[in-house]
Amino acid sequence: MDMKSEDPDRFFRPGQISRDGFLGTDPRAVEEIVRQDGDTLKRLGLTAEAVADTLQSLIDAARQGLEGPVEAGDWIVRLDWARGLVPCPFGDKKLQPKITVEAVRKRSGETMLFSRLSVHMIREHGFFGGAGSAFRIEPESVADWIRNGG
Ligand SMILES: [Zn+2]
Repeated sequence: MDMKSEDPDRFFRPGQISRDGFLGTDPRAVEEIVRQDGDTLKRLGLTAEAVADTLQSLIDAARQGLEGPVEAGDWIVRLDWARGLVPCPFGDKKLQPKITVEAVRKRSGETMLFSRLSVHMIREHGFFGGAGSAFRIEPESVADWIRNGG
């Protein structure tokens, strides 16, 4: 077997599990992205679990509105639920419903996009997405939201 052809991050690339993939324009390996975001979280005194809990609470709020926008603290959230399930690219065989949430922060107009799969990957794998990916969650931004109560 030619080891050089083995790409450990293949499931994160476009057209594998997701059309656009999970890495955006980030040239780093998944392992490296996870390590650096882990360092950032530590510096901020934050855990991946706390970030996942915060995002999950926005998903829960958005579900109340079905397809319409809902206010949740400083956020306006809107949920999209597509048919089917999506596998985790880390290969743990945990299927996630295709729930996507678009959140707009009222105070700043800042927006973020995340999915049920994003929350799973943050919680279980410490993976916040590649730089330049539409679903990238910046640990620094989340720290600010958590500190300022949403
Ligand atoms: Zn997983």
